[in-house]
Amino acid sequence: MKRFDGKVVAVTGGNQGIGFAIAERFASEGASVAIASVDEQVHEAAGQLKAATGATVLPVVCDVTSVSDVKNLYSTIESTLGGIDISVQNAGIITIAKVEDLTEAEWDDTMEVNTKGVFLCCQEAIRYMRKSGGGALINTASGQARDGFIYTPHYAASKFGVVGITQSLAKEVATDNITVNAICPGIISTDMWDYNDRVWGEMLGEYAPGELMAEWVQNIPMKRAGEGKDVAGLVAFLASADADYITGQTINVDGGLIMS
Ligand code: NAD
Repeated sequence: MKRFDGKVVAVTGGNQGIGFAIAERFASEGASVAIASVDEQVHEAAGQLKAATGATVLPVVCDVTSVSDVKNLYSTIESTLGGIDISVQNAGIITIAKVEDLTEAEWDDTMEVNTKGVFLCCQEAIRYMRKSGGGALINTASGQARDGFIYTPHYAASKFGVVGITQSLAKEVATDNITVNAICPGIISTDMWDYNDRVWGEMLGEYAPGELMAEWVQNIPMKRAGEGKDVAGLVAFLASADADYITGQTINVDGGLIMS
């Protein structure tokens, strides 16, 4: 008997990075998993996940900023996999720019994906979870929902927003047997962090690729960057029966980088 046998899980941004590791964890622990992404590569990722775990994996191309795409995501999950028990709102984007260079488009795109996208997916998942008697929502925020970093006011705002959505919805659905929690990854080795290392590195000084990350990792008490599987462990816990009495919380997964 595996922990998520019979459960249906959705992971947005599930085709790569942290989202893929989360999907892999649920698939290897018995769940059927839908991975959603704006990237057509989601089909190839689903094939890899199925081959690695033997689980049922449903790829769905979905832009989380589009109401019709999000509605299609959850109705496809229900018609194909029979319902939705756990939804992980993980899709996200970042750009890095000095305040005088940050464009309105960067601001809007970041808020659309990271904040509105989380809300739209929660909104739609809740409709199905209320009908079926409960569920768990986990929203990906960031260390930047605790402490805004330099050159990323739009990203920090978008991730503080995720915490606000999480707390408000957690109160609204608390008696519907639905939990809503947020997670704050720190420095996790993914494509997004490669971009951060390169662009912040160029803007903050003469850093060769990898040097800024190595320097920042020295500020992590555990002295290592995180991996997707470190984040997946927390998400799986929050989605499990062991976390049934935990809601509205925001939990760091960052090797001790931020302790509040
Ligand atoms: P990544 O760039 O590897 O993956 C991002 C995913 O989001 C991709 O699958 C991409 O296709 C998807 N996506 C982007 N826009 C989308 C849209 N409009 N609709 C649907 N999917 C979309 O990044 P990652 O590092 O795996 O990040 C995953 C999440 O974790 C993000 O929310 C990110 O902000 C957050 N995060 C990452 C780190 C880190 O150090 N890597 C730290 C804190 C928070």
